[in-house]
Amino acid sequence: MRVIVVGAGVLGTMHAWHAVERGHEVVHIERESEARGASLRNFGQIWVSGRAGGEELDTALRARELWEGIGARVPGIGFRANGSLTPLRTAVELAVAEAALAREDAPARGYKLLTAAEARVLNPALRGDFTAALWCERDAAVEPRIAQLALKEALLASGKYSFLGGREVRDVVEGVHGRAVRDDHGDLHTGDTVILCTGAWLGGLVRELAPDLPVRRVRLQMMQTAPLGEPLATSVADPDSFRYYPAYAGEALDALNAAQAQDPIAAAHKMQLLMVQRADGGLTIGDTHEYEHPFAFDVAEEPYDHLVRVVESYLGRPLPKIQRRWAGVYAQCTDSSRVVHRQQVRNGVWLVTGPGGRGMTCSPAIAERTANELEW
Ligand SMILES: Cc1cc2nc3c(=O)[nH]c(=O)nc-3n(C[C@H](O)[C@H](O)[C@H](O)COP(=O)(O)OP(=O)(O)OC[C@H]3O[C@@H](n4cnc5c(N)ncnc54)[C@H](O)[C@@H]3O)c2cc1C
Repeated sequence: MRVIVVGAGVLGTMHAWHAVERGHEVVHIERESEARGASLRNFGQIWVSGRAGGEELDTALRARELWEGIGARVPGIGFRANGSLTPLRTAVELAVAEAALAREDAPARGYKLLTAAEARVLNPALRGDFTAALWCERDAAVEPRIAQLALKEALLASGKYSFLGGREVRDVVEGVHGRAVRDDHGDLHTGDTVILCTGAWLGGLVRELAPDLPVRRVRLQMMQTAPLGEPLATSVADPDSFRYYPAYAGEALDALNAAQAQDPIAAAHKMQLLMVQRADGGLTIGDTHEYEHPFAFDVAEEPYDHLVRVVESYLGRPLPKIQRRWAGVYAQCTDSSRVVHRQQVRNGVWLVTGPGGRGMTCSPAIAERTANELEW
C-alpha cells in the first residue's frame, strides 16, 4: 500500500512511522522545507500527570510506551524518563495533590507525595521554598526542535519513505487508481490512502474538505534560557497546572480556587508553569493560553516576568539569561474531552487534527489507532 501523509509535524510523522512499520510505502508532503509548527515549538513534554482518567489517560500511557520504544531505536529524539515534580506550599495545594493520589488510576501515573527533602533528592536544583511536592514518575520528555528531523532520518533509512518539503497540498483528487493530492507545483501524488495532518491550518484546503470542523486554535507564549549550569533532573510544574489539567478537578480543586486566587497576571493570560531542561542545559519555560481571535502578533512581556518570578522561587537562584521567546499555535477539539478529531473527509482521505496541548504526548498512540482503524 502507498500512503500519502500531508504535514510533517509530529502527528504526520507518527502516521508515517506506523505506516512504514507495517510495511507500507509513504510519501510525506510538507509545505515548509521542514515542519516549523506546534511540534517544534512545544516543551517536548510527554505529559501523563494531569490527563483525564479514561481514554485520554489510556492514550497518553500507550503513547509514553511507544515514545520510549521509538527513543531506544532513534536516540536523536532525546527521549528521557525524567518524571515531573509539582512543588506545593499551602494546605489547599497539598489537598489537591492528596486527592490526585486517591484516584484509582494514581498508580498508573506513578503519583507520589514527597516531602521537600525527598523532592530535592530527585531534583537537587530545587533549592527554593516549598514544603512538599507531587511526583509523577510516568512523565517524560523529548527534544522537540530535533525530534522530527531524527525521525525523518530513521524513516529515510527504511527505504520505504520519501519526503517532499516546500510543497503545499492544494487539492484532493479521486482518480481511477486511488486517491491523489495536487501540490502547489502542480504535481499529483497518488496513493491508496491520504492522511492529512495539517495542524492548526484550518482554512484553505481543510475548510473546503471539512467546513464545520469542531476544532479551535489556541496560542501560547514560551521562552528558553541559556544553560542553567547544573542539571534540572525532572520537569517542573506549578500548582496553577492543577487549575488547568482535568485529572485534578474535584472538591479539593474547588477549595483551592476559592481560598487562593490565581496571581492576576497568570489569571489574565490563563497561565501555568511548565519547565523542562533541554539537552544543551537551557530551560524551556511556559506558558500562556490565548483563545480569542484575532491573536496578538507580538509576544507580551508581563507573562514572562511572572514565569521568571515563579521559577526563581523554586530554584532559589536567579534564572540564566532568556535567549529565546516565541509563540506557537495548536489546534484543539472544541469538545476538549476528545483526544483528537479524526474524520474521513473524502473516500480514502482522512483528516487527523485537534489533539490540543497533548499532541506531542499522544501522537504515537493517535497514529497507531488510525493505522488499526484503517487496517494498515
Ligand atoms: C507552545 C506549545 C507548547 C506545547 N507543549 C506541548 C507539550 O509539551 N506536550 C504535548 O503533548 N503537546 C504540546 N503542545 C501541543 C503539540 O505541540 C501539538 O498538539 C502537536 O505538535 C500538533 O502536531 P501536528 O502535527 O498536528 O501539527 P503541526 O506541528 O503544526 O504540523 C502541521 C504541519 O502541517 C503542515 N501543513 C499544513 N497545511 C499543509 C498543506 N496544505 N500542505 C502541506 N503541509 C501542510 C504545516 O506546515 C505543519 O508543518 C504544545 C503546543 C504549543 C503550541
